[in-house]
Amino acid sequence: MPPSILWFRNDLRLADHPAVTHALADSDAVLPVYIIDPRQIGPSPFGFGRLAPYRAQFLLESLADLDAQLRVRGSALQVFIGEPAEVLQRIAQEWNAPVVYTTLHHAHEEQVQLRRVSEVLRVKTSEPPTLLHPDDLPFPIDKLPKVFTAFRHKVEAHWEVRDALPEPTNVPTPQEWTSQLPTLADLGCEAPSSDPRAVLPFQGGRAAALERLKHYFWDTRLLATYKETRNGMIGADYSSKFSPWLALGSMSAREVYQQVKRFEQHFGANESTYWLVFELLWRDFFQFVAAKHGADLFKRAGIAGAPPKGNQDRRRFEAWCEGRTGQPFIDAHMRELAATGWMSNRGRQNVASYLVNDLGLDWRMGAYWFERMLIDYDPCSNWGNWQYLAGVGNDPREGRRFDPVRQAGMYDPDERFIRQWS
Ligand SMILES: Cc1cc2nc3c(=O)[nH]c(=O)nc-3n(C[C@H](O)[C@H](O)[C@H](O)COP(=O)(O)OP(=O)(O)OC[C@H]3O[C@@H](n4cnc5c(N)ncnc54)[C@H](O)[C@@H]3O)c2cc1C
Repeated sequence: MPPSILWFRNDLRLADHPAVTHALADSDAVLPVYIIDPRQIGPSPFGFGRLAPYRAQFLLESLADLDAQLRVRGSALQVFIGEPAEVLQRIAQEWNAPVVYTTLHHAHEEQVQLRRVSEVLRVKTSEPPTLLHPDDLPFPIDKLPKVFTAFRHKVEAHWEVRDALPEPTNVPTPQEWTSQLPTLADLGCEAPSSDPRAVLPFQGGRAAALERLKHYFWDTRLLATYKETRNGMIGADYSSKFSPWLALGSMSAREVYQQVKRFEQHFGANESTYWLVFELLWRDFFQFVAAKHGADLFKRAGIAGAPPKGNQDRRRFEAWCEGRTGQPFIDAHMRELAATGWMSNRGRQNVASYLVNDLGLDWRMGAYWFERMLIDYDPCSNWGNWQYLAGVGNDPREGRRFDPVRQAGMYDPDERFIRQWS
């Protein structure tokens, strides 16, 4: 039987991985690949590149970790830079590998990539990386409620989370198929410098993901107080910090959910354990919004089809990016992002609102900047949250402006955060 191609995307793990399970069940051998599409790291419509060094480094660490996991199972990861359809077609011909197994991703560019691959090869897709399986939703995707609260009420009334799938012990692969991983330079990036003020020394890959989960749930039981601390901005432990690993798929939302349930069995359920699942539902919501609205999630008019607002003033935008607006709370957050590739949820809401409402800029400039910078960049969560805050997405309220002076007074009353990044 010829080998099958196992095309990894933002699902860089072997456990709880439906496409891995299907490929191994159907084939005697697989060829694991990951493809970096130059269009997704090249210039954004606003001129700057879409992949900054911190995010690039986290991605390469995640790929190296997946490769290591594959190697102990008799396989290897080959990473290519190129247009996915062309790369996969070349591999398919070279290795006489007629079928591609992969995960369905709802973001528009990922959908277009998949469509092109499907035009030239036989593709078998598995469910997207959500907590809830799309087939278990109590409505078809095109009837997804517009507002998160309605979505949550509906899915909570028909609650079902499928069990996580087991990790394979063997991944049979032809012997000549060896590891091939790019460097930062191949991605046009220099090595980022580490900043001692970073909330965590984030390390890509499953080993670090599971270590963080163990720390947050089991070693410290911080999960039990998550709801009270989640609006923090300083240090490792105010929130789970799972997002970079969830965004690249080093661990799945289902795995996190299972651990929450285990935690509740040991220590009891409370508002905090509920709230972490609530946040995972926000993540699902934006994945399904992307599935429903396709390219509109990335358009200026948004999924609401709103009239264009905001200008593209470069000087104002650069001041925002570099933390030079003169508004200390905003500047502190933007400097943290520039220096570490991370920003708290509280920070993200504030700087996004500031860009839209105070600087009067086109919201997509901010969304592309976040895409470039955030180590946890996820197309659905990023663009969905930006649309929400810009008033062109799922927010039922008009004009969601965060007053940075008031917010600083509430969340940084002693100005510790501002001073840390001044
Ligand atoms: C403008 C803006 C852009 C954002 N861009 C991204 C992005 O590119 N990638 C990303 O993962 N998150 C994004 N978020 C959502 C949120 O800020 C981060 O998920 C969260 O701060 C990550 O920290 P944590 O893992 O400690 O989260 P926790 O508070 O511990 O939450 C647990 C998990 O729930 C999910 N989650 C929490 N809040 C949200 C939310 N509002 N939307 C979607 N999922 C959520 C994340 O997967 C997170 O890891 C954005 C938010 C805003 C306002």
